Order: sequence, then C-alpha cells, then structure tokens
Amino acid sequence: AKHMGRNTYCLYEPGMDAQLEKRRAIEGDLAEALERGQFDLHFQPRVSIATRRIVSYEALVRWHHPEKGMISPADFIPIAEQNGKIIAIGEWILREACRRARSELGGARVSVNVSPVQFRQRNFVEAVGAAIADTGIDPTMLELEITEGVLIDDDRRAHRLLSELKRLGVTIALDDFGTGYSSLGYLGRFPVDTIKIDRSFIRDMAKSDTAMTIVRTIAGLGNGLGMTIVAEGVETMDEARLLANIGCSEFQGYLLGRPVPVSAIPDIDHAAIAQ
Ligand code: C2E
Ligand code: CA
Ligand code: CA
Ligand code: CA
Repeated sequence: AKHMGRNTYCLYEPGMDAQLEKRRAIEGDLAEALERGQFDLHFQPRVSIATRRIVSYEALVRWHHPEKGMISPADFIPIAEQNGKIIAIGEWILREACRRARSELGGARVSVNVSPVQFRQRNFVEAVGAAIADTGIDPTMLELEITEGVLIDDDRRAHRLLSELKRLGVTIALDDFGTGYSSLGYLGRFPVDTIKIDRSFIRDMAKSDTAMTIVRTIAGLGNGLGMTIVAEGVETMDEARLLANIGCSEFQGYLLGRPVPVSAIPDIDHAAIAQ
C-alpha cells in the first residue's frame, strides 16, 4: 500500500493496490477488445430430464486477452457494466449467439444472458428485435436470461418490457433464481417462462435440508405456474437424481457438459432439438 499520509495509511487493505491496478488494466484493454475481435462465445448444453436430450444451449462470453489469456466474465462483465461498455458487448453477444444458433448449431435453441444494464437501456427491445430480424433466427428459439433485480428496480417498466419481448416471440428465463431479492410473488406477476435455480442451492442440497426445501419449493411453485424449472450447476449423478425427484424438468452443469466452443460440440440430432 502507498503511504498517503500518516492517518490514511491504515485505510488500505492488503492487496487493494494490486486489485485496483488489475482493474485499471482490464478496463483499458476492454475498451478495444470488441473491435479487435477478442470476444468469443462458448456454449453449454441444457438437458431435459425426461427425454435426456439437449433442449438448448446457453451462450457464455469469453475474452481472449492477447497477453493475459482467457479472462473470466465474472472479472470483466462487472467492469463493462460500470463503464457502459456492456451495451455494445451485449449487443454483439446477442447477435453472435443468434447467428451461431442458426448457422452452426443447426437451429438449436439458445439462451443469452442479459445484463441488468442492457435491460435498463432505452432501446433494449428494439435491439433484440433487430438482432432477430438481421440474423433470421426463429424468435421462439431465443431465450433471454435476466435476473430478478431488474423486476424490482422498476416494476411497471419491467412488466411492459417483458410483455413486448414476449410479443417478439422470445422466451424469458429468470437466472440465478433464489439469490437476489427473491420474492416468489414475482413469479405470478411477470410473464416469465423459465426459472433457473441458482447453483448455490444445488451445491448445498445434498447436505442441507434447507437448500433442499428451497429447491423443492421453487420447483413446486414454478411447476404450478406452468414454468420450466432448470437446475444450474449440476455436477453429480446424486444431484441429478434428487432434482428429478422433486420436479426439476431440465438441468445444466458439468455432469452434462462444460461450456465449449461450437467446434467442440459433438454432432447432435438437431431435428430433435428444434422440435
Ligand atoms: P451464469 O449466467 O449463472 O452462468 C453459469 C456459470 O456457471 C458459467 O460460468 C458456467 O460456466 C458455470 N457453470 C456451469 N455449470 C457448472 C457446474 O456444474 N459447476 C460449476 N462450478 N460451474 C458451472 P461463466 O461462463 O464463467 O460465467 C459466469 C457469469 O458471468 C455468468 O453466470 C453470467 O452472470 C456472466 N456471463 C457469462 N456470459 C455472459 C454474457 O454473455 N453476458 C452477460 N451479461 N453475462 C455473462
Ligand atoms: Ca445464465
Ligand atoms: Ca445462472
Ligand atoms: Ca450465476
């Protein structure tokens, strides 16, 4: 830590300078990453428990930094959200995911993560409409993953936006469900198709009755409302069995496949996926 004067010295936590430094470096490089073509998408399969088939792929962004190698989205998305770059990056992700789903994944369904910053942007619905029109994707093959926070921010606007998106034909998933300001009441009030139960509950389920009860309750309510229930981060057969028993209809996780480049996705029965 730098010595900034006798009384401020102790305000620095160990490692803080290094963190700031790292952040500043990332931020500088991030400004040019898009035009330099350093982003790529990986795809992770989502599987139906009943049919054991792949029902869709989640697009997950990857940044190949020329010197630092792969930088995790967990490290750069928050920075891009703070400086606004996420708008341009997010639009690229959306188009690229639609384009690839159509041309490289044989028309498979694709899920795209939407940052709250993107969702709050004024032209978001238009941007989604343009991505659909320009790539020619069947809009019912596109799912947008949003987080609960955007529903709470501005309840009425969120409701209107979701209705407009549904009118375009896309489906809506609530990502990381159970973590944010979760209120089960939201489920009935917004036009949401899919709930993705956060990985933390799946991870704790086997050893925690509380986590198990939460998963069962979310699944029960979601099913009652006619939603698709997806479990995130399924890593073991035990978890998969438990989830099947309590009414989760689909799952995603390392057990079934890690996120990989399109080229690493084995040949699949695309007709079965598209139905
Ligand atoms: P997320 O949307 O919840 O994505 C799931 C994350 O969990 C992914 O990490 C995925 O690789 C990881 N994962 C999947 N299955 C398992 C599992 O069985 N075990 C474990 N331990 N992890 C699993 P990733 O790709 O590093 O992404 C992290 C987060 O960064 C995402 O969480 C999402 O919030 C954000 N993100 C990633 N791609 C995008 C994007 O294209 N746009 C936006 N706005 N955010 C993105
Ligand atoms: Ca997601
Ligand atoms: Ca998630
Ligand atoms: Ca997450």
